[in-house]
Amino acid sequence: MVEAIRTVVVRSALLPRRTFRAFVELEGMYRNMVEQLVLHAVNDNITKFTRLKAERYRDVRSLYPQLPSHYAYTACQDAAERAHSFLRLKRMGRARKPYPEVRSVSIWLDDHLWRAEGLTSISIATHKGRLRVSIELNRHFLRYVNRGWRLASEAKVKLDRRERRLIFYLTFRKEVSEYRPKGYITVDVNEDAEAVLIDGIVYLLETDLSRVTLGYYYRRKSVQERYDRVYGPGSRPERRVLRRLSNNEKALKREIRRKLAALIVREAARRQAAIVLERLGKEPAKGMIERIKDPQLRHRVFQAAFKGMQRAIEEKAREYGVSVIYVDPRNTSKICPIHGTEIIYDGRNRHGVCSKGGETWHRDVVACYNILLRALGGDGGSAPSRVRALIPVDGGPVPLGPTAAHEPTPIARGAWARWRSLGATSDHKLMRVSA
Ligand SMILES: [Zn+2]
Repeated sequence: MVEAIRTVVVRSALLPRRTFRAFVELEGMYRNMVEQLVLHAVNDNITKFTRLKAERYRDVRSLYPQLPSHYAYTACQDAAERAHSFLRLKRMGRARKPYPEVRSVSIWLDDHLWRAEGLTSISIATHKGRLRVSIELNRHFLRYVNRGWRLASEAKVKLDRRERRLIFYLTFRKEVSEYRPKGYITVDVNEDAEAVLIDGIVYLLETDLSRVTLGYYYRRKSVQERYDRVYGPGSRPERRVLRRLSNNEKALKREIRRKLAALIVREAARRQAAIVLERLGKEPAKGMIERIKDPQLRHRVFQAAFKGMQRAIEEKAREYGVSVIYVDPRNTSKICPIHGTEIIYDGRNRHGVCSKGGETWHRDVVACYNILLRALGGDGGSAPSRVRALIPVDGGPVPLGPTAAHEPTPIARGAWARWRSLGATSDHKLMRVSA
């Protein structure tokens, strides 16, 4: 059994001023506890909740005796997580300040602190007793309720001061049993496209993720320059525009990744296949993005296009009970999957020529087949006949010729984003390729 987890956002109705004030007070106290805990944790290099709680729970508990005791507990969890990610950034040399700033706060709730009362209201334990707020039902929330997801005991709540509402982040869980895979779908993630091998066809699904990242980077830069000239550096209007840009960027990328992951995972589930991915390192080591000189930008491209894409697939796969297998990523595009010899790329495009057979290969097609070989237990040095049989090769050393198997089928983002499945169009695509 695997467990799928999703966060769903629901908003409360407009709250009476008195009720909202109680939440503002609660947030103030909670923030204060978290700030103190984070300072302590970073000072003493603590990243584990259990240790932070053992050392500090009593102190923060006695700060606000009027608060339900579990807030001291969840504040420890919250602070431990903040300290953990801050210390990691610091080790990587990417922390700008000596201590993390506790800027936006969402209050962590456990099963003692909140409770759903039916589908329409939530009650929260506060220093003023239990307060009940009604929530606005939305389609997203109802979909999880109706599809057998379980509401988990942990939740977060954030204050929307402008609208005088609460925003709840609820967690849904679902147990799914994984099937035994009958085949494999291999995925080669690249910065601007994802090559997917399904039933002997390599689809090249374009994501443009690095283009999105770079585009927003340059837009941010030009906004910064323009506003710095008019208002001076770091002005409030500038920050507002930059924040909006980065929210848009995040939302767009999330949408692209989510849609593509769903498309691939549904294909795997339909065939009862496992998904095979390359095991990625921690840092942007992929040769392709080394040309980006700015390390922070390189990191962002890597996170969005490689890490983020993999995570989206993993998340979706858990929901459908599809298993995900990882293979060694070394040299997956350098060795001919048929002859086991080196493929020579001329460096100008993504095509190379096999040094033994002389046939032409598209880099992403090579990678997909080699990933499949590794999943099957071959090392790529000598292809098992089972895989060789899978690769429909006409063998002719025709440069970019009619050898459809060596060419991926490129599909633009605008096209696949509207599809429910790849199967529906594969016949058409096949005809186009072999025509
Ligand atoms: Zn070859």
